[in-house]
Amino acid sequence: MSTLTILQRGEPVLSAVAMPVSNIDSAEIKQLIIDLKSTVALAKGVGIAAPQVGKSLRLFIMCSAPSERYPDAPLLAPSVIINPEILNTHDEQELGWEGCLSVKGKRALVPRYSSIDVNYLDETGIMHNQTLTGFLARIFQHELDHLDGITFIERLDNESDAIDEAQWRQKTLNN
Ligand SMILES: [Zn+2]
Repeated sequence: MSTLTILQRGEPVLSAVAMPVSNIDSAEIKQLIIDLKSTVALAKGVGIAAPQVGKSLRLFIMCSAPSERYPDAPLLAPSVIINPEILNTHDEQELGWEGCLSVKGKRALVPRYSSIDVNYLDETGIMHNQTLTGFLARIFQHELDHLDGITFIERLDNESDAIDEAQWRQKTLNN
Protein backbone atom coordinates (compact mmCIF):
# COMPACT_ATOMS: atom_id res chain seq x y z
CA MET A 1 0.00 0.00 0.00
CA SER A 2 1.32 3.40 -0.89
CA THR A 3 -0.06 6.88 -1.14
CA LEU A 4 0.14 8.60 -4.48
CA THR A 5 0.92 12.19 -5.37
CA ILE A 6 -2.27 14.16 -6.05
CA LEU A 7 -1.85 16.26 -9.18
CA GLN A 8 -2.98 19.89 -9.21
CA ARG A 9 -5.16 21.69 -11.75
CA GLY A 10 -3.10 22.65 -14.80
CA GLU A 11 -1.71 19.13 -15.31
CA PRO A 12 -2.88 17.96 -18.77
CA VAL A 13 -4.26 14.64 -17.45
CA LEU A 14 -6.82 16.62 -15.39
CA SER A 15 -8.33 18.15 -18.52
CA ALA A 16 -8.33 14.93 -20.59
CA VAL A 17 -11.28 12.58 -21.16
CA ALA A 18 -10.33 9.32 -19.41
CA MET A 19 -10.55 5.84 -21.01
CA PRO A 20 -12.99 3.15 -19.82
CA VAL A 21 -11.52 0.43 -17.59
CA SER A 22 -11.53 -2.83 -19.56
CA ASN A 23 -9.48 -5.05 -17.24
CA ILE A 24 -11.01 -4.80 -13.77
CA ASP A 25 -9.29 -8.02 -12.65
CA SER A 26 -5.80 -6.93 -13.65
CA ALA A 27 -3.10 -6.49 -11.01
CA GLU A 28 -2.65 -2.89 -12.18
CA ILE A 29 -6.28 -1.94 -11.46
CA LYS A 30 -6.36 -3.81 -8.14
CA GLN A 31 -3.24 -1.94 -7.01
CA LEU A 32 -4.61 1.39 -8.24
CA ILE A 33 -7.78 0.88 -6.17
CA ILE A 34 -5.76 0.08 -3.02
CA ASP A 35 -3.53 3.11 -3.55
CA LEU A 36 -6.44 5.48 -4.30
CA LYS A 37 -8.19 4.39 -1.09
CA SER A 38 -5.14 5.09 1.05
CA THR A 39 -4.41 8.35 -0.78
CA VAL A 40 -7.91 9.77 -0.29
CA ALA A 41 -8.00 8.65 3.35
CA LEU A 42 -4.70 10.39 4.10
CA ALA A 43 -5.90 13.55 2.33
CA LYS A 44 -9.22 13.40 4.28
CA GLY A 45 -11.14 13.71 1.00
CA VAL A 46 -14.62 12.38 0.26
CA GLY A 47 -13.65 11.20 -3.21
CA ILE A 48 -10.75 10.81 -5.59
CA ALA A 49 -10.64 10.02 -9.30
CA ALA A 50 -7.90 8.10 -11.11
CA PRO A 51 -6.87 11.11 -13.29
CA GLN A 52 -6.01 12.99 -10.06
CA VAL A 53 -3.09 10.58 -9.58
CA GLY A 54 -2.14 10.62 -13.25
CA LYS A 55 -4.11 7.56 -14.43
CA SER A 56 -6.45 8.49 -17.26
CA LEU A 57 -9.04 5.81 -16.45
CA ARG A 58 -12.78 5.95 -15.70
CA LEU A 59 -12.55 4.96 -12.04
CA PHE A 60 -13.11 6.83 -8.80
CA ILE A 61 -13.57 6.25 -5.06
CA MET A 62 -16.39 7.77 -2.99
CA CYS A 63 -15.72 7.67 0.75
CA SER A 64 -17.99 10.17 2.44
CA ALA A 65 -17.45 10.62 6.17
CA PRO A 66 -17.78 13.63 8.47
CA SER A 67 -14.40 15.37 8.72
CA GLU A 68 -12.83 18.72 9.32
CA ARG A 69 -13.04 19.35 5.55
CA TYR A 70 -16.71 18.25 5.28
CA PRO A 71 -18.36 18.39 8.73
CA ASP A 72 -21.85 17.51 7.43
CA ALA A 73 -20.87 14.61 5.17
CA PRO A 74 -22.83 11.37 5.63
CA LEU A 75 -20.95 8.20 6.56
CA LEU A 76 -20.37 5.79 3.67
CA ALA A 77 -17.98 2.86 3.38
CA PRO A 78 -15.48 3.57 0.58
CA SER A 79 -17.09 2.64 -2.74
CA VAL A 80 -15.20 1.83 -5.92
CA ILE A 81 -16.96 3.28 -8.97
CA ILE A 82 -15.85 2.02 -12.40
CA ASN A 83 -17.08 3.17 -15.85
CA PRO A 84 -19.88 5.27 -14.29
CA GLU A 85 -22.79 6.80 -16.16
CA ILE A 86 -25.54 9.22 -15.20
CA LEU A 87 -28.75 7.83 -16.73
CA ASN A 88 -31.16 10.46 -15.48
CA THR A 89 -31.18 13.68 -13.52
CA HIS A 90 -34.12 14.73 -11.33
CA ASP A 91 -35.14 18.05 -9.89
CA GLU A 92 -33.35 21.30 -10.17
CA GLN A 93 -29.70 21.92 -9.64
CA GLU A 94 -28.82 23.25 -6.23
CA LEU A 95 -25.75 25.10 -5.00
CA GLY A 96 -23.45 23.48 -2.46
CA TRP A 97 -19.91 24.07 -1.21
CA GLU A 98 -17.20 21.98 -2.82
CA GLY A 99 -13.48 21.68 -2.58
CA CYS A 100 -11.13 19.47 -4.56
CA LEU A 101 -7.86 17.76 -3.70
CA SER A 102 -6.58 19.00 -7.10
CA VAL A 103 -7.58 22.63 -6.46
CA LYS A 104 -5.83 23.13 -3.15
CA GLY A 105 -7.11 25.76 -0.73
CA LYS A 106 -10.20 26.78 -2.73
CA ARG A 107 -13.93 26.37 -2.13
CA ALA A 108 -16.93 27.42 -4.19
CA LEU A 109 -20.68 27.10 -4.42
CA VAL A 110 -21.19 24.68 -7.31
CA PRO A 111 -24.53 23.86 -9.00
CA ARG A 112 -25.31 20.10 -9.08
CA TYR A 113 -28.42 17.98 -9.56
CA SER A 114 -29.83 16.98 -6.18
CA SER A 115 -30.94 13.54 -7.42
CA ILE A 116 -29.44 11.33 -10.14
CA ASP A 117 -29.91 7.78 -11.44
CA VAL A 118 -26.53 6.17 -12.08
CA ASN A 119 -24.92 2.92 -13.00
CA TYR A 120 -21.38 1.69 -12.55
CA LEU A 121 -19.33 -1.44 -11.99
CA ASP A 122 -17.80 -2.17 -8.59
CA GLU A 123 -14.33 -3.68 -8.15
CA THR A 124 -15.73 -7.20 -8.56
CA GLY A 125 -17.29 -6.29 -11.91
CA ILE A 126 -20.89 -6.28 -10.64
CA MET A 127 -23.16 -3.66 -12.21
CA HIS A 128 -25.01 -1.36 -9.79
CA ASN A 129 -28.05 0.77 -10.60
CA GLN A 130 -28.71 3.39 -7.94
CA THR A 131 -30.46 6.65 -7.24
CA LEU A 132 -28.19 9.04 -5.38
CA THR A 133 -29.39 12.18 -3.64
CA GLY A 134 -27.91 15.15 -1.81
CA PHE A 135 -24.24 15.06 -0.87
CA LEU A 136 -23.61 11.64 -2.45
CA ALA A 137 -25.12 12.83 -5.74
CA ARG A 138 -22.83 15.85 -5.48
CA ILE A 139 -19.68 13.73 -4.94
CA PHE A 140 -20.64 11.45 -7.85
CA GLN A 141 -21.08 14.40 -10.24
CA HIS A 142 -17.83 16.02 -9.03
CA GLU A 143 -15.81 12.80 -9.51
CA LEU A 144 -17.45 11.93 -12.84
CA ASP A 145 -16.47 15.41 -14.05
CA HIS A 146 -12.81 14.50 -13.33
CA LEU A 147 -13.19 11.58 -15.78
CA ASP A 148 -14.32 14.08 -18.42
CA GLY A 149 -11.48 16.52 -17.78
CA ILE A 150 -13.54 19.00 -15.76
CA THR A 151 -12.78 20.44 -12.32
CA PHE A 152 -15.37 22.31 -10.21
CA ILE A 153 -13.74 25.59 -11.26
CA GLU A 154 -15.06 25.05 -14.82
CA ARG A 155 -18.60 24.68 -13.38
CA LEU A 156 -18.53 28.26 -12.05
CA ASP A 157 -19.74 31.25 -14.03
CA ASN A 158 -16.56 32.96 -13.00
CA GLU A 159 -13.30 31.54 -11.67
CA SER A 160 -13.26 34.33 -9.10
CA ASP A 161 -16.39 32.82 -7.51
CA ALA A 162 -14.00 30.38 -5.80
CA ILE A 163 -12.88 31.64 -2.38
CA ASP A 164 -9.93 30.77 -0.14
CA GLU A 165 -10.49 27.94 2.30
CA ALA A 166 -9.85 30.28 5.25
CA GLN A 167 -12.62 32.61 4.03
CA TRP A 168 -14.93 29.62 3.53
CA ARG A 169 -14.26 28.40 7.07
CA GLN A 170 -15.27 31.82 8.41
CA LYS A 171 -18.46 31.86 6.33
CA THR A 172 -19.61 28.37 7.30
CA LEU A 173 -18.77 28.90 10.99
CA ASN A 174 -20.91 32.04 11.01
CA ASN A 175 -23.95 30.32 9.50
ZN1 LIG B 1 -11.98 16.94 -7.30
